[in-house]
Amino acid sequence: MSLATQPIRDLRRQLTAGEIRPSDILDDLAGAIESREPALGAYLSFKLDAAKQAADEADLSLPLGGIPIALKDNINARGEPCTCSSRYLEKGYVSPYDATVTAKLKAAGAIPFGRLNMDEFAMGSSTENAALGRTVNPHAPDRIPGGSSGGSAAAVAAGTAVAALGSDTGGSIRQPASHCGVVGLKPSYGRVSRYGLVAFASSLDQIGPLTRSVDDSAAILQAIAGHDPSDSTSLDSEVPDFSAQLDAGVSGLKLGLPKEYFGEGIEPAVRACVEARVRELESQGAEIVEISLPHTEHAVATYYIIAPAEASSNLARFDGIRYGHRSANPDDLLDLYKKSREEGFGPEVKRRILLGTYVLSSGYYDAFYNRAQKVRTLIRRDFSEAFEKVDAILSPVAPSPARRIGGNSDDPLKEYLSDIYTIAANLAGICAISVPAGMVESDGAQLPVGLQILGPHLGEATLLRVAKAAEVAQG
Ligand code: GLN
Repeated sequence: MSLATQPIRDLRRQLTAGEIRPSDILDDLAGAIESREPALGAYLSFKLDAAKQAADEADLSLPLGGIPIALKDNINARGEPCTCSSRYLEKGYVSPYDATVTAKLKAAGAIPFGRLNMDEFAMGSSTENAALGRTVNPHAPDRIPGGSSGGSAAAVAAGTAVAALGSDTGGSIRQPASHCGVVGLKPSYGRVSRYGLVAFASSLDQIGPLTRSVDDSAAILQAIAGHDPSDSTSLDSEVPDFSAQLDAGVSGLKLGLPKEYFGEGIEPAVRACVEARVRELESQGAEIVEISLPHTEHAVATYYIIAPAEASSNLARFDGIRYGHRSANPDDLLDLYKKSREEGFGPEVKRRILLGTYVLSSGYYDAFYNRAQKVRTLIRRDFSEAFEKVDAILSPVAPSPARRIGGNSDDPLKEYLSDIYTIAANLAGICAISVPAGMVESDGAQLPVGLQILGPHLGEATLLRVAKAAEVAQG
């Protein structure tokens, strides 16, 4: 069995016993990349030779010593490109610093070696908005891998990465994990430093792991979590041992089923698959409780005001002066700003900047932005009330399995609506995970579907415990 597809714990055991060397893992990864990557397109770049050198020097006594990890291309790593799959950053930007998560992975002995494709600036749910690559679903080449961390999910699913980091602003870790059949964790807001993550919507963004198992997810979260003085929104609270309770099971836990997440719009096969996992958790001793999150129907509208508003402000830094693309023949300074942005950004990024600028503009600010903030408070309150009654919440991740490539390309609203089950967790700042729930038949293909588990703010230990029980239930 290829070392590239083994659990991190098994790799670590073999490494510390001297049965394998870190470069053996990289050799197996290189083989997998060579055979699968040309069709898959998960990577924007990778440096296996440099990684081998780092591997030779890896301190195997560290928790992730010798484990190669691939990064979504919006997470800075010193000396590497960080393109966000945008023409804007395609040429000329080499990162001068490590994001805190990159530094923490290195400090834990891991070896970041590759950059993974994504929707441009993390805006999208399909990886079709990528300007610099095209990633397909490893289960069906005519399907999207999901997005925006589509490269991360596809690489882990195809065995061309042991594990990867992604970012999740409205579902971008969980939804591609669901579509590719891997585990994707969005930590609670403030659990993981955002320093060095190229900002999309700063009040929603979180970095998290995409892995083949819940054990691996806990191991990586352990390495990247914790307070960081460089990110004022990272929380100065204790980081528990995320693996300690993993095998405690769900007996005695109360798990909520929000009625708003199982209604209209969900494909029957997806619903049946998720419900089968719910029944298994019940048979393991969990008490299943029907709950209500009454403001769910407003989540998409709220998110698509707040996220573009923050994006329009964050992306103002790309002005043709400081980073990346600069238009060649501007008439004057204003024209330089305009042309650099016009030439550098793709259509979805422009749409978000326009939307965001509009909702923040004088006269519309109160009607849209302020109102969205109020609804966000109501959505957050829905969850805090629910978590007074239950330990975690179970739901689908997306209404349908991975759609065909090109399917929604002229219908952004339809695409936005498919984020319905994932974005509320970001608006509320709570933690959430997608674990494989099974395969379903959809439009002639067998495709993976995820079960989403949502936990209270900083409730990752319980979240991972429920996730592990759901994973075990499937064998
Ligand atoms: N699909 C959502 C969007 O397009 C979420 C993206 C994300 O989480 N980065 O904004």
